Amino acid sequence: MPKVRKVCSYCKSTEVLKDAFAEWSVEEQTWVLHACYDESYCNTCEGSCSLEDEECEDSSGSGDAP
Ligand SMILES: [Zn+2]
Repeated sequence: MPKVRKVCSYCKSTEVLKDAFAEWSVEEQTWVLHACYDESYCNTCEGSCSLEDEECEDSSGSGDAP
């Protein structure tokens, strides 16, 4: 299954954030993602933006080490 990354539809930056709710999990003792909104924010555009999916074949480089 190909991995995708979320990029800003305007500037193609990956410096994007998603507006979301987190819910406290007593079992995990951390905040877990509860729901995402449509609203997104691009750090490069410094404002709200639309996100696009971009396929990335190489999964290295984003802190997902075993
Ligand atoms: Zn942008």
